[in-house]
Amino acid sequence: MLPQIIFLGTGGDCFVVGKQLRASGGIIIRAEDMQFHIDPGPGALVRAEQYDVNLRENTCILVSHNHLNHANDINAVISSMTHAGLDKKGVLISNRTVINGDNNIDPMLLNFYKNCLERYIIVKENQKIGVGDIEIRTTPTKHGIENIGFKFITPEFSLSYVSDTSYFTGLAEPHKGSDILILNVVNPSGVNSKTNLNSDDAVKIINIVKPKLAIIQHLGIKMIEADPMYEAREIQKKTYTQVIAAKDGMAINPLSYSSSLRQKTLKNY
Ligand SMILES: [Zn+2]
Repeated sequence: MLPQIIFLGTGGDCFVVGKQLRASGGIIIRAEDMQFHIDPGPGALVRAEQYDVNLRENTCILVSHNHLNHANDINAVISSMTHAGLDKKGVLISNRTVINGDNNIDPMLLNFYKNCLERYIIVKENQKIGVGDIEIRTTPTKHGIENIGFKFITPEFSLSYVSDTSYFTGLAEPHKGSDILILNVVNPSGVNSKTNLNSDDAVKIINIVKPKLAIIQHLGIKMIEADPMYEAREIQKKTYTQVIAAKDGMAINPLSYSSSLRQKTLKNY
């Protein structure tokens, strides 16, 4: 399995996801011969088939929060990955509300599918989990519902998925050093929301994290209307960093942006 990042969807708000103007199947990360599936929203199975991803190969599912566009297909993905529990396997890393819910929130995960997994891990922000040779750190967010971001540190590259959040002091710092930074930029420059990022926030975060590549995705209807490619170019101009607006089905080789690999290669000369 080659290292790869595949976008099974880039849609953000309920308008874009509701009409499937952009897909919402989550993000696949392949590293160290393992397959990670982040935030499987509506249509995850359909998009996996469409973009040649075999969900049976999922090692680990990571769900940042209990919103429909991030978690709706969690049960379907577990079913697909385990043959509905005939082959009990895989790990789910997520928070309390997704796995157990609370007094006001029904969990997206059904008990039957919880039991199809080899293991589930309930996490909060600022924790570390080891999956094989990969370290996954959970990072803080502010989204009006319990939520976490993820930072992957693999032997070959590092990647951050900041997840849905408003901008706050201390949001970007835990992601420093990531080669690839995936930002859920729901809104274009000048459009503010109390729970999500816009392009101006993306500039601030990129200037602190200083990744090799920043990817904007999880696009809302105002972002689609403003043109994500234009927004990406404007962010790039203000950060002197390569910025891409993700498209559905886009696949990236993370090793092209790895600073640790580059150092290793230099050492050989
Ligand atoms: Zn959300």
